[in-house]
Amino acid sequence: MNPMVKAEGVHKNFGRLEVLKGIDLEVQPGEVMCVIGPSGSGKSTFLRCINHLEKIDAGRLWVDGELVGYRQKGDKLYELRDHEVARKRREIGMVFQRFNLFPHMTAVENVMEAPVQVKRESRAEVRERALALLDQVGLADKANAYPNQLSGGQQQRVAIARALAMRPKLMLFDEPTSALDPELVGDVLAVMRKLAEDGMTMVVVTHEMGFAREVGDSLVFMDGGVVVEKGHPRDVITSPRHERTQSFLAKVL
Ligand code: ADP
Ligand code: MG
Repeated sequence: MNPMVKAEGVHKNFGRLEVLKGIDLEVQPGEVMCVIGPSGSGKSTFLRCINHLEKIDAGRLWVDGELVGYRQKGDKLYELRDHEVARKRREIGMVFQRFNLFPHMTAVENVMEAPVQVKRESRAEVRERALALLDQVGLADKANAYPNQLSGGQQQRVAIARALAMRPKLMLFDEPTSALDPELVGDVLAVMRKLAEDGMTMVVVTHEMGFAREVGDSLVFMDGGVVVEKGHPRDVITSPRHERTQSFLAKVL
């Protein structure tokens, strides 16, 4: 079985700024990998590279056995065209700190938007699945509410349902609870935990150490564009091997 994500010496620069300095990582199917690290360490950039939003400058990156950004024909590599990239991106769900729901659409319409645009399924079928997804995230009764009628936590759960609507094989979460009032964080984490229990492969950038410890299969500490430490969450949290991990954990725990 292919790893769901495999990174080998991944480098990313923005102009002269070296943001990723050789990332080596594997995420197995069904694994929940949590990623922690100081602001500016390259966590979001790494997720964006996995999701075709940034092009890497060196190294290789695969999702489900396919090189990100390229199509292989014989032993030649061809850069993907825009519509091919769009198709690949549909296989990956991404949830951001800010939910970016369409403000003029109801919750269920937001969830239906991408599958309807892709037009492989009938509107009725998509609607039924969207309602089931809203039920899954605990918002069956909010299907017809507009984003401004929902709390931040409810909006984030709609965003998760929206990402799931394309039946992704991988879900990326970039600090999904960082913008929420503390009392709303738990409901979002509960939805993510359920998703993990159902076997979804997930990469979760988060500073919710309780979630990392209880739900994560692995925990990665990034700093300065490199993976400083990766291990079982319990091991990394209770006995970090590197001084940089220790001092970071001392601040977030
Ligand atoms: P993190 O998510 O760990 O906080 P980021 O991946 O967002 O870190 O950013 C890593 C570094 O890359 C930061 O110094 C940030 O300013 C820089 N950076 C991120 N995106 C861009 C961009 N599009 N252009 C220039 N610099 C960027
Ligand atoms: Mg970030």
